[in-house]
Amino acid sequence: MSSWFDKLPRSQYSSLQRISISESWFQVYAIHPTVFAIYEPYHYQEVISYFIVGSKKSLLIDTGMGIGNIEKVVNELSSVPLIVINTHTHHDHVGDNWRFEQSLIGIECEFSKNNDHSLLTEAQNDMKNDRICEDYLPKDFDKKSYRIKPYCISKFISDDDIIDLGNERKIKVISTPGHTPDSISLLDIQERLLFVGDIFYSGPIYLYRPETNLEDYIKSLEKLVCLIKDNKVDLIVSSHNIPKISPHLLIMTLEAIKKIINGEVMAKKTDDDLYNEYNFDDFSFVIDPKFLNK
Ligand SMILES: [Zn+2]
Repeated sequence: MSSWFDKLPRSQYSSLQRISISESWFQVYAIHPTVFAIYEPYHYQEVISYFIVGSKKSLLIDTGMGIGNIEKVVNELSSVPLIVINTHTHHDHVGDNWRFEQSLIGIECEFSKNNDHSLLTEAQNDMKNDRICEDYLPKDFDKKSYRIKPYCISKFISDDDIIDLGNERKIKVISTPGHTPDSISLLDIQERLLFVGDIFYSGPIYLYRPETNLEDYIKSLEKLVCLIKDNKVDLIVSSHNIPKISPHLLIMTLEAIKKIINGEVMAKKTDDDLYNEYNFDDFSFVIDPKFLNK
């Protein structure tokens, strides 16, 4: 068994209520009475999608890797009519988008448009033997033909839009590009939860892909740190590894990236010698050095 899997289960999950579901690829945890983390622990990406159940509408935030059937999971959790949105369109968060064509909303962005008609290379890369626990794969899953199926957004939304789930449960869309041009964060205004996608997670934060924009990333972090300093956020909710993150860590992330930009932190090279890795206590950054020399 590969090393990432030996570290599981991560300790945070022992404090969360686990919800029983029939799809064995996923584990579901309640992180709040009406917010469920839909976790994929048997792939090294450890992707987490989220499901918020409101009185009139429910909201699925990301659809995971498309290995297990996430539609079945949400149908078991609630029958409230569904809206589906992505924090960004990297392949590991849009895998089951194709199942939700009637309910999928998203921002209009060139980068998203290029991702909605099948992601093959990235998907196949994630099928390498050391990245997946084969014993847990769904019986009808075929590694060789795995790709992200095409999907269509049914309604476009913009920065600052509100998604109304009924009974004062309002989710605010916040454009936070940087990790990708189409990255958004979602603020659950009433419950004071901030869903940040891949802007922050506990682990190596990737800032080396061609679609990364470091300047935008810092501006987006500043935007989110403002919300924290304005006392609007109790909990950061992230999309890999563990769901619950202290807002204080996001403030530290912004300070850390500014130190890197100012050349105050020593880097080591990644194993492939391509990128710089900067280590901090609860996270690290993997950055393409060419982004730092602008
Ligand atoms: Zn991503």
